[in-house]
Amino acid sequence: MSAPAIPTAGTSFADLALPPAMLATLQQLNYLAMTPIQAASLPLALAGHDLIAQAKTGSGKTAAFGLTLLAKLNPKRFAVQAMVLCPTRELADQVTQEIRRLARFEENIKVLPLVGGAALRHQATSLENGVHIVVGTPGRIMDHMERGTLKLNDLTTLVLDEADRMLDMGFHDDIAYVAKRCPKERQTLLFSATYPEGIARLASQFLHQPQEVKLLEQH
Ligand code: ADP
Ligand code: MG
Repeated sequence: MSAPAIPTAGTSFADLALPPAMLATLQQLNYLAMTPIQAASLPLALAGHDLIAQAKTGSGKTAAFGLTLLAKLNPKRFAVQAMVLCPTRELADQVTQEIRRLARFEENIKVLPLVGGAALRHQATSLENGVHIVVGTPGRIMDHMERGTLKLNDLTTLVLDEADRMLDMGFHDDIAYVAKRCPKERQTLLFSATYPEGIARLASQFLHQPQEVKLLEQH
């Protein structure tokens, strides 16, 4: 008889300090155990540390930062509390969908993609109506900041997703513009598939005493 499929120690989401409703949502999504990057990064991120997390594409990085920002979120406060910067429109849309799935435990969490292609005015109206989480490309996020349609006074989590690709695409200065205008008292999470030199420099500029989680053996 084969052994029952009991998750290895340290890979069960139930070991994390997550609200029961969130754990129920994870079960519904069939997220039965944490992936290695989730197991390594979630305890640190949920404890409030800034984090540099590196693991290959497809390893579950979205849920690692998504659960972290959702666990801190106050759904009753209709203000942008978390912002995720992504390199492309397609990735921002994917991250938006994944965070919306993870946010099903609470009816009222609004996640808004801020990417080019959609009308600025429509996005501005959505922002005005109350949004908890924005996910966008640096250019469009900057645009809304300059216009005053995106206010970041209540931001508690900043995520730099696919940071290596954002640097490759020349977004360093745009990331700097955005990060410098975020509240200083915040958690910053940097996720990347690779760890080129520029990542360490970026982290030293915008992260505060970050913990590092690198799963190099997966490459
Ligand atoms: P990455 O950002 O590292 O490239 P994603 O966050 O896009 O990876 O995740 C890849 C896929 O794995 C997605 O389809 C996601 O829904 C799924 N996934 C993430 N975490 C888990 C988990 N713990 N259990 C099962 N599937 C998961
Ligand atoms: Mg990703």
